[in-house]
Amino acid sequence: MDFLRKTLDDLSRSGLLRELRCVDGAQGPAVRIAGREYVCLCSNNYLGFASRPETARAAARAAEEFGCGSGASRLVSGNTALHEELEAAIARLKARPAAILFPTGYMANVGAISALVSSKDAVIVDKLDHASIIDGCRLSGARILVYRHYDPGKLEHVLSKSHNYRRKLVITDSVFSMDGDVAPLPSIIEVCNKHGAMLMIDEAHATGVLGATGRGTEEHFGLLESEAADRSTIVMGTLSKAVGSFGGFVAGSRELVDYLKNTARSFIYTTALPPSVCAASLAGIRLIEVDSQSREKLQSNIRLLSHLLSDLLPGAQQSGSNSSPVTPIFPIHVGDAARAVAVSQRLFEAGYLCPAIRPPTVPAGTSRLRVSVQAGHTQQQLRGFVETLAAEIGD
Ligand code: PMP
Repeated sequence: MDFLRKTLDDLSRSGLLRELRCVDGAQGPAVRIAGREYVCLCSNNYLGFASRPETARAAARAAEEFGCGSGASRLVSGNTALHEELEAAIARLKARPAAILFPTGYMANVGAISALVSSKDAVIVDKLDHASIIDGCRLSGARILVYRHYDPGKLEHVLSKSHNYRRKLVITDSVFSMDGDVAPLPSIIEVCNKHGAMLMIDEAHATGVLGATGRGTEEHFGLLESEAADRSTIVMGTLSKAVGSFGGFVAGSRELVDYLKNTARSFIYTTALPPSVCAASLAGIRLIEVDSQSREKLQSNIRLLSHLLSDLLPGAQQSGSNSSPVTPIFPIHVGDAARAVAVSQRLFEAGYLCPAIRPPTVPAGTSRLRVSVQAGHTQQQLRGFVETLAAEIGD
């Protein structure tokens, strides 16, 4: 078992060792760690719903009524009215006839992709797609074809050479998790339709954030406006980010959902989400529907952070979305992993929580601080952070 120590030592030497920090109490714009308060600039709790009384109370009430665990998989005895109500709410939010819950977004990707394609098929992915998409592709046994990030032209090129596969499934993050840019969805849909490929989008960072009413990337691009609009895109997402709860989903046609209930192994062979978690997700989705103020506050903080970065750290913002930012994710590239860790550590000492993102999460040489802004951050917190960051890495 020498390899355990050796691997850990190697990771440590190259600045890639990962360690846990323990947060005391609820998530929010600031968190407590070992008795000290830190401004939190790395959470996906974009709208603050993870600690809203509405979500916490809904979970507590459901735990009182239903107990803690669900006891078995959905198909055995773990299914409740709360699971079904939540699936209906997700389907409504995503403007699809039906939706299916998975225990996490990771499991939604792995389960759906491996159910939809296999060895006779091709999956076509953006180079920067999330790890859970890549793992689903690997598990499926389909041929994995990669196109250049953010490039529908390259996607078309790959598809035009893929006629020999039985099925073609294109999968893209709609908001890229480490870069914050929004995939050019209208062009991607057009290319997929032209080449008869299925399309699946990962709405993990778009749900609750993008679109006038928080329905996601399709709403952002005006693709949900008409009843006659094409709804064939398969929509995957998570309830663990802006919704403020936990769990994953796929939304689409009734047939797709029935198919996944019968074939997706990460749905069939795992215990159902606890009902209390479903209740919290339902409360989070209701908040998305009624609390437009939080979304507006988030958008105004996104604009503020963008201005502060371009004033105090010109050149630091390198993602496609940042010319006109609409997502809460700002990658600040700092080069190698060791430097990213050192900058992150100095920010921590100054009271800001913003861990370094290193390979294999991002490609080698692109280690970064992935700054994520929340609706609840104050102007003072964001200004203080950018000033401290500029003092560390500015010219
Ligand atoms: N897709 C993307 C793009 C993500 O960023 C994440 C979470 N980091 C997931 C899927 C997985 O979701 P979950 O955390 O619910 O497993």
